[in-house]
Amino acid sequence: MSACNSMKYQESNDNLQFLHQEISQWRESPSEKTVYAPKEETIFLSGGLTLLQDKLIESALNSLGIRYISLPNPNFASFQTGKAYGNRGQCNPTYFTVGNLVKYLQKLRDEQGVSAEEIVRKYVYVTAGGCGPCRFGMYITEYKKALRDAGFEGLRITAFEHNKGIYQGEEIEDPLIEYTPTFFVTLIKAVIIGDIINILGYKMRPYEAEAGSVDRAIEECRKLVADAFLQKRSPLKTMWRCRSILEKVTLNRLQPKPKVMVMGEFWAAMTEGDGNYNLHRFLEAEGAECIPQPIINRLMLSLWEAEQKLYQSETLESETSKSIDFSAVKTRMMLKAGKAAVKLYFTLYAKAIGLHDYHIPNIDKLADYSKSYYTLECEGGEGHLEVAHLLESVKENLAHLVISVKPFGCMPSSAVSDGIQSLVTARHPEANFLAIETSGEGAANFHSRVQMALFKAKQAAKEEFEALKIPEKLPEKVYNYLYQPTNRKAGSAAKLIASL
Ligand code: SF4
Repeated sequence: MSACNSMKYQESNDNLQFLHQEISQWRESPSEKTVYAPKEETIFLSGGLTLLQDKLIESALNSLGIRYISLPNPNFASFQTGKAYGNRGQCNPTYFTVGNLVKYLQKLRDEQGVSAEEIVRKYVYVTAGGCGPCRFGMYITEYKKALRDAGFEGLRITAFEHNKGIYQGEEIEDPLIEYTPTFFVTLIKAVIIGDIINILGYKMRPYEAEAGSVDRAIEECRKLVADAFLQKRSPLKTMWRCRSILEKVTLNRLQPKPKVMVMGEFWAAMTEGDGNYNLHRFLEAEGAECIPQPIINRLMLSLWEAEQKLYQSETLESETSKSIDFSAVKTRMMLKAGKAAVKLYFTLYAKAIGLHDYHIPNIDKLADYSKSYYTLECEGGEGHLEVAHLLESVKENLAHLVISVKPFGCMPSSAVSDGIQSLVTARHPEANFLAIETSGEGAANFHSRVQMALFKAKQAAKEEFEALKIPEKLPEKVYNYLYQPTNRKAGSAAKLIASL
C-alpha cells in the first residue's frame, strides 16, 4: 500500500496539449542520426527457421561474400527478454524473435565488450515483414521499439516482405545486399536442402536402433552441405554423398507408431524449441512419428496467392479494357518460372539423398479441398492451408493425429481456421484433431493435452498394424530408409507390411 501511495503520475500525463494539435502521420524514426559502417563492414543477423536451415543459410550466404550470422535458436530467456522490452498484446513469435535479437546484442555488448554504438553502426537485422490482417504487419515497429528501449536505437532492420518479394527499410538508401538471381537461388537451395534433410530426420529418428544415431548422421550431412556451399561444390553431388551417411543408420521400422501431422501457424508449427515447447521432440519422446511442415509449403502458398491476385486483376481488367497488359504476362511468366525452379531443385535434391515418397504440396489441390469451407481470397497466416491439411489428412489417410499449433490469440489460426475446423470435424468425425495454443508459459498444460490426443492416435496405429498379416520372412529392404512405399495406410510400419 505504501509503495502504491508513493507512486507519482508522469508529468506528461497532465499534458493535454495534444488535444488541439493538428493530426499528423506518426513515424518510428531514431531521435539521432547514426553514421553507419560501410557495406564491407556490415554484418547481417537473422534466424528463427529450423535449426538446420538457419545454419545452412549462414553458410550459403557467407559463400556469396555476405557477412551473415544466424542467431541461436530462440529459447525461453528470449521470450522473457521480448516480453520485457515489447508492447503488451503481441503474439509469441514477436516476443521470441525480438527477444532473441535483443538478447544476442546484449551478450555482444556485455560479454564481448562491443559498445552499443558500434553494434548499431555495424549490424543489420533481416526479418520477415508484410501487411496483413493480423499483427504480422507490426513486427518491424515492435523490433524498433524493443531495440530503442534496450539501448540499441537506430539499429537497422531490413525485411523480406512475404507478399511483395523483397524491399529494404525506407531509411536505407543504398541497398546493402545485392538481391541478384544468384542470391535468391543460393538462398532457396539452402532452404530446400534443409527441408529435405529435416523431413528425412523426422521419418528416421523414431525408428533408430541406437539412440542419437540419426541426429549424428544429420549433423554429418549438414557439415557436408555447408562445406559444399562454402567451397562452391555441387550441392547435388553432396546430397548423393549424404545418402551413404544415412544408409549406415540402423532402423527398426516395424514398430506401430502413431503418425502426427504438425501444422498450424507458420512459426509455431515450424520452430524447434521453446517456441512450441519442443513439440516435435516431445512427440518423438512419447513414441510418435512427426510429419513436419516444410518451409517450401509457405513459399508455394505465397506464389499461389500472387498468381490468384494476378488472375483476379486480369479478369477485372479484361471487362473494362481493350488492350492487353503485358506487365501482367511478364509477372505470370516469372511466377511460373519461380514455381518450376522450386519444384525442380526439390525433386533433384530429394532424389539424390533418397527421399522418394514426399512431393511438393499441390496448392491447387489443397485449395480445392478447402474452398467449400474457407474463402480462398481470405489471406493472413496460413490462409486456407490449415483447413486443407486437416481435410487432406482425413481424405488421404495421412496421419493418426493432426495437431494445429498456434500462438495464443493468433488471429488467422485461432480465430478463423479453428472456427472452421469445428465444421470439418463435425462432417468428418473420424478425424483426430487437436488445436492447441502456446503462450510461452504453461508447458505442462500444453504437453498433457497433447498426451491425451496421442492416446487415441496410439491405439489407431496399433489397430491398423495388427490388422495386417506379417509375412514370416521379411525382406532386408524394410530396414533401409530408401524403401518408402506409398499406399493408403497411415503408419510407417503398416505401410511397409501392406506393401509386401
Ligand atoms: S499469424 Fe498469428 S501468430 Fe503470426 S503474426 Fe499473425 S496473429 Fe501473430
